[in-house]
Amino acid sequence: MENMEIREVCRDKDICGGCVYQGVPYEEQLSNKFGEVKGLLDKKDIRYGELLPIEGAPSRYGYRNKMEYTFGDMEKNGPMTLGMHKKKHFMSIVTVDQCQIVDEDFRKILTTVLDFAAKTGFPYYHKLRHTGFWRHLLVRKGLKTGEVLVAVVTSSQAQVNMMELAEHLKALDLEGSLVGVLHIINDSLADVVQCDESRILLGRDFLYEELLGLRFKISPFSFFQTNSFGAEVLYETARAYVGETKDKVIYDLYSGTGTIAQILAPVAKKVVGVEIVEEAVEANAGLNQLDNCDFHAGDVLKVIDELSEVPDLIVLDPPRDGINPKALEKIIRFGVERMVYISCKPTSLARDLVTLQSSGYQVEKCCCIDLFPSTYHVETVVLLSKGEVDSK
Ligand code: SAH
Repeated sequence: MENMEIREVCRDKDICGGCVYQGVPYEEQLSNKFGEVKGLLDKKDIRYGELLPIEGAPSRYGYRNKMEYTFGDMEKNGPMTLGMHKKKHFMSIVTVDQCQIVDEDFRKILTTVLDFAAKTGFPYYHKLRHTGFWRHLLVRKGLKTGEVLVAVVTSSQAQVNMMELAEHLKALDLEGSLVGVLHIINDSLADVVQCDESRILLGRDFLYEELLGLRFKISPFSFFQTNSFGAEVLYETARAYVGETKDKVIYDLYSGTGTIAQILAPVAKKVVGVEIVEEAVEANAGLNQLDNCDFHAGDVLKVIDELSEVPDLIVLDPPRDGINPKALEKIIRFGVERMVYISCKPTSLARDLVTLQSSGYQVEKCCCIDLFPSTYHVETVVLLSKGEVDSK
């Protein structure tokens, strides 16, 4: 089993802030993650029916389909670096050209972009001084389709022939296929990967990925689970928890690229998705020939007041902070019999479960799934139903 494979511990283990569990046996990583979730549920007095053992990821290495790297340096006036923030050092960047949670294509692209950027002589963008040129590198790869999309994010403070960089990338011998190279200009003062202007240097500005036999169109900034093979385990679990759906109207709240909605649509009467990032919503309408899926762009808090269909079942997959308390109140008021809550952060999940429990929902089943080996993150899927369950 690949899960059991232990490679040489990463060279950057002690400095890179990306992985905290490098070199920790996988079984121990899993039991720590499970213990964290169980501990939080117990601490908050959440009663549960079944708490299933944690599911490991299908692969411990090369599992990420997206990385966002930052340009910087390791020490003041040192050579330019490109990678992840140094552990506990907000201003230093570690070049992660040996990173094991991505595949060789990511490492080759990173090295090529860093070499090119360093040779131009233009500095990286300094996030406190707001001067400099090179900001971020975004790499996405459909692990099922092999499609690779590269976006280089810079300020507008220099003129560089970015076509030359695109040609270098095109000449790389990749295992996947490069479908697009973008130059994104971002002059915003905040240290986030965002876009004032996007120029296509090569190919197109999106890629396709497949999950559970469905095809998804992913734009550079839309949310998509970063571990495709793990996401299949997650969505299959969610689908099993959702149960019988034939005549049901399902709300998929915080729907992202519409993955969950589209997985459920073939077996439901109707699925209504709500997502705040407009481009994520637009990308998927019509792609999988499903005519019983409606997507609405906007904040869940507001949009759920305007939906005409009454839900029979609600799937929730909020961002890290969990569900806005006012939105959760509204969600509870629908009074559905069952909800499935998918969470990427145990603390916000536990907080929301307190509210749900005090409003008459019980945790029937709960399962943790590890989508992020070597890091401390963990996903949890919870089936909630109205009324009492036999709690243990
Ligand atoms: N269910 C999706 C996405 C989950 S991630 C999947 O499995 O791929 C959470 C999503 O919630 C992100 O796409 C984010 O853009 C969206 N989001 C964040 N805040 C929101 C809000 N207030 N209203 C609607 N969507 C929101």
